[in-house]
Amino acid sequence: MKLELRTRSVGPYSTNAYGLVCPSTKQSILIDPGDEPDTLYELLKGTHPRAIVLTHTHLDHVGAVAEMRARLRVPLLLHRGPHAKGFALKADCWIKHGAVVRLGKFQLRMLYTPGHTADQMCIALDDARVIVGDTIFEGGPGKTWSIEGFRTTCQTLRKVILRWSDDTVCYPGHGSSFRLGDQRSAVEMFLRKDHGKFFGDATWGM
Ligand SMILES: [Zn+2]
Ligand SMILES: [Zn+2]
Repeated sequence: MKLELRTRSVGPYSTNAYGLVCPSTKQSILIDPGDEPDTLYELLKGTHPRAIVLTHTHLDHVGAVAEMRARLRVPLLLHRGPHAKGFALKADCWIKHGAVVRLGKFQLRMLYTPGHTADQMCIALDDARVIVGDTIFEGGPGKTWSIEGFRTTCQTLRKVILRWSDDTVCYPGHGSSFRLGDQRSAVEMFLRKDHGKFFGDATWGM
């Protein structure tokens, strides 16, 4: 038995909102309610929502969080931050690196993966699937806004992401999912290069 993973692409930035559903208890968790509350409500159809979890607090990932929290009447879980500019909501539960959240008969592990933002988290299922938010995409790491942010991203890739098995499937905040093993050598090559004072939009091949 595996957790059911549902996806909808919402809003002007085509943000991936995810719904995780325990097939036996029908309990669910909503991840990154970026926009389009009706679509998100439909995503959770036939389930018993237990919580909303944010991978990070960029506007394109949180646009519908206040409305969905009110509609579903569930707690909001996120990393303590500091949060992205303009994000002012308070969590019902602050998540720390390594925290375990129960969902029906399953466990989710929360991993702190800063760089793209200071509050970025990944949500690891117990079967080599990980919701990575904007930590990593098929073609490169999430955008950074400072030299420090870029260096932190490189640390996160080394210390967290590359420790996962090749068979790990990453589900990013935008675009399609990918198998980590297919990108591993490109990521390692990227990390071996000296990127100087770079920050911004990066690709593995640069
Ligand atoms: Zn982001
Ligand atoms: Zn995003």
